[in-house]
Amino acid sequence: MTDFSQDAEAARWNYRPENPVGLNPLFSWPPRPAAVLRWYRGAWLQLTSLTLCLALAVAAYAWFLPPLEAMQSFAPGWMFRVWLLNMVPQILVASGLHWWLYMRKGQGMYKKFDRRDLTRDNGTFTFRNQVWDNIWWTLGSAMTVCTVYQWLIYWVMANSWVPTVTWAQAPVWFVAWMFFIPMWSGLHFYWVHRLEHHPKLYKHVHAVHHRNVNIGPWSGISNHWYENILYFTTYFIHLVVPSHPLHLLFHIYFQQVSPILSHSGFEKIKAGETEAAKTGDFFHQLHHRYFECNYGTSEIPFDKWFGTFHDGSAEATTRTRAYKKQMYT
Ligand SMILES: [Zn+2]
Ligand SMILES: [Zn+2]
Repeated sequence: MTDFSQDAEAARWNYRPENPVGLNPLFSWPPRPAAVLRWYRGAWLQLTSLTLCLALAVAAYAWFLPPLEAMQSFAPGWMFRVWLLNMVPQILVASGLHWWLYMRKGQGMYKKFDRRDLTRDNGTFTFRNQVWDNIWWTLGSAMTVCTVYQWLIYWVMANSWVPTVTWAQAPVWFVAWMFFIPMWSGLHFYWVHRLEHHPKLYKHVHAVHHRNVNIGPWSGISNHWYENILYFTTYFIHLVVPSHPLHLLFHIYFQQVSPILSHSGFEKIKAGETEAAKTGDFFHQLHHRYFECNYGTSEIPFDKWFGTFHDGSAEATTRTRAYKKQMYT
């Protein structure tokens, strides 16, 4: 347990985890196999963003995605479907969570990190309203860029210009690649995100995402156009690594829907008296409060390796502030 009594920042949180923020023990030395097992069991065998994204991908593939043969040339029918496959889950998950947590206030302040409510009547935000601002940047900017990238990738896959795989051809690779997608996404995100924190790029581009110090479900991919152009390049890995459309769909939902959960502002979702799902991510919540820390995810500990890891402690806050000052002078 951490001693918060020496932390002047403690009072600013409504809730924060008792223990320092955890990182994937797969990279610990000496090896900690039991901890690794617990980490992956916690991520894959419960209702988490990973399992939700996998379920969405399977449903989308089984019921809505046109067959690859239909995507050999650009045609409005399948292209419209691909756009819907982005829009519909995004709207359902983000507005569902927003309604339950922030409008209906279904679990009150239970495991809500920030004390404050989302911002209204504030000129920092487009339309002077945080939620409308976030909805615009998500559905307008992010959904447009990601859809265009997906059109290209499906079209290239359909024409067999890149190697694809099927379950029957390579079942082991099929599962292994699925498992590595979150890691690839974490690696890509860390470097793109660090670049976006370059003071110039930050000021003109990434600041749109960071308008949200107190985050909500719609903040997840509320990004500037240029940020989205960079952020969604993660999908182009499927032009290099042999993939199946299901891999791309899982990657898509992991990149688009899981940030809704990680930005929800609540660590857990309660159903009745039990904690039904893991949602918020204190690791990234700290990034939104202190900016120059936790650029990656807890999946690959780049932040630890490069000295930008904030584990929630008072020392980490002091270090982060000193680093930020040095960046901007
Ligand atoms: Zn950032
Ligand atoms: Zn964020």
